[in-house]
Amino acid sequence: MTKQKTVIIGAGPVGSLAALYAAQRGDDVEIYELRGDLRDASTVPLNFTKSINLALSERGINSMRNAQVPGLIEAVLSDTIPMHGRMIHGQKNGQIFEESQAYDIHGRYIRAVDRAGLNKRLLDELDNMPNVKFFFNHKLVGADFNKNLAWFERKPSSSQSDTPASTKQPTKETEVSFDFMIGADGAHSAVRYHLMKFARVDYQQEYIDTLWCEFTISPKKNQNGDDDFKISPNHLHIWPGGDFMFIAIPSLDKSFTCTLFLPEATFKSLESSPPTTIPFFKQNFPGVIPNLISEEDIQKQFTTNPHLPLISIKCKPYHYEGSVVILGDAAHAMVPFYGQGMNAGLEDVRVLYDHIDKYKSDNTYHPHDTFHPKYKNSAEHRALALSSYTQMRHPDAHAINDLALKNYQEMRSDVRSPIYRVRKFVEERLYAYVPQLGWATQYSRVSFGNERYSDVERRAERQSRVLVSTLGVVGVSVVSLVAWMVVRSNNRRVSPVRAL
Ligand code: FAD
Repeated sequence: MTKQKTVIIGAGPVGSLAALYAAQRGDDVEIYELRGDLRDASTVPLNFTKSINLALSERGINSMRNAQVPGLIEAVLSDTIPMHGRMIHGQKNGQIFEESQAYDIHGRYIRAVDRAGLNKRLLDELDNMPNVKFFFNHKLVGADFNKNLAWFERKPSSSQSDTPASTKQPTKETEVSFDFMIGADGAHSAVRYHLMKFARVDYQQEYIDTLWCEFTISPKKNQNGDDDFKISPNHLHIWPGGDFMFIAIPSLDKSFTCTLFLPEATFKSLESSPPTTIPFFKQNFPGVIPNLISEEDIQKQFTTNPHLPLISIKCKPYHYEGSVVILGDAAHAMVPFYGQGMNAGLEDVRVLYDHIDKYKSDNTYHPHDTFHPKYKNSAEHRALALSSYTQMRHPDAHAINDLALKNYQEMRSDVRSPIYRVRKFVEERLYAYVPQLGWATQYSRVSFGNERYSDVERRAERQSRVLVSTLGVVGVSVVSLVAWMVVRSNNRRVSPVRAL
């Protein structure tokens, strides 16, 4: 029997994991990546448009674990830093303070991971597989999903991109045939673009009114002269600003990668008047200057590092027949405020292969359905799996897209509000002490479990309604009780009868 040829577009984290899943199932796998090999020193790092480090949580971990590559998950996790909670930084009565808010009453945590390190680890695993071939510097430029053909432009390698135009090799176009294509080529996906010509894709995209820019807090020297973290490495640090925020995530080299999220107009006003940047930081992000980053560095990094947009994309379906499916940011780019974009993309891979495996292994023969053995491993069989994948996955992708947008409000503002803290306190206590109620915070369901995002959203809404009405009833009862006690004590004081 000839092997299935699976072509993966994009060697980011999602494409690399998808390639591992396909290779583990015996497919002949070809990976086409626009850029050079990340592991090659001459390749322009991805970080010029991507965050340097990320929050990795259960869904991403579980999906890598399910790849069933010996040693993979242990190796990935050994290069992460646990973040047990948020550290909220602020200023009260002229005093700088920090307050730790644990993510989970049971001590579960998320992990800081270096994006490039994780990606390289997945690529290294693929190198060990005889049925995987890489095609770096190959840009998908066309696809026909009825004929299962794709066209790629072979770009000059990045070392060549510095050479004068006259001496550059011309870009070549190659045609590639495939049985199955997985598009994991990011938010501006070319696969999605071509898919739209074949499938009736509903598509919605939104740029939110926030740009982001990265900064670095370099390590300090400890007493032994070694590099050390300037602030707690086991927290995701947040300086909430109401309409904006500054965050910091630890890196293995003892530095922190910080991200400033700011409305576009504020960015523009700081850009047009550079001397206002330092006072802006001093006023809104207490303790950053000069304790963590010098004035000079803030100004330099703000000017040098790109100010980038945030896009949110929803679409459906994710597939066409048995030929192609899109995963990760290509299918559902989201704003980064739940730390779920990559985690959800990695989870896509696991869920997709659950569907593919289910349809492959179902040998039940019924004369009138498509599970006839002759369809096993065929495009028809795959089409059923992909259709069922889209049906199941799109409510989940939509849900986490929405939750990510809502979490921006929580991170930049709500974390400081007393109501938020009371609610978190009550929810966590119910979760810890009355587990039979099935109560859990939305954050723990999203970050520490593998429950469907759409179920998380539904349950969180229901829980919120119950909590608000219960707290309302409790509030009214307390107020009534206090009022009754006040009236009663007044009556006691003034009633001549009682005075007797
Ligand atoms: P990408 O990482 O975008 O990879 C796509 C690949 O496809 C690239 O290598 C690209 O070169 C290649 N490609 C593109 N076009 C073509 C083409 N035509 N032909 C061939 N190859 C092509 N997620 C988290 O889970 N946790 C976080 O804490 C987190 N923080 C974030 C912070 C910020 C500021 C941002 C912007 C995002 C964050 N994310 C986070 C989201 C995360 O970065 C993405 O969800 C993740 O990178 C998506 O992976 P991907 O493999 O789908 O796409």
